[in-house]
Amino acid sequence: MVIRTIVKIDEEKCNGCGKCISPCAEGAIQLINGKARVVAEELCDGMGFCIGVCPQGAISVEQRQTIEFNREKAESQPRSTDISIKCFKCEKGENERYLIPMRYQMESIWVCTRCLPSLIHG
Ligand code: SF4
Repeated sequence: MVIRTIVKIDEEKCNGCGKCISPCAEGAIQLINGKARVVAEELCDGMGFCIGVCPQGAISVEQRQTIEFNREKAESQPRSTDISIKCFKCEKGENERYLIPMRYQMESIWVCTRCLPSLIHG
């Protein structure tokens, strides 16, 4: 066991929308009985890509005692493209552009790296 940063999901706030599952490249989150759960703590690297997409604010990261992150196991998880993930501006998907999760006016959205500068600079 080690002390490290890991994702924490507030079950009371989670509405089971499933938006946090695809951003987790390591496959650490699954929906179980209508709630998101970290199913394998050794797969969660604590990076928190899932945080920005949660419309309920149910996800945070915390420092706590858990098992060590297993990079080899995480990298061997099956990868699949999620066609529902697209840049909200140009509508390009993850196979065409680098996509970043972000929040705007209480909405969880994705933006690609080409459209992001226009949001920053207007
Ligand atoms: S994105 Fe948030 S509300 Fe939706 S399933 Fe994940 S934790 Fe629950």
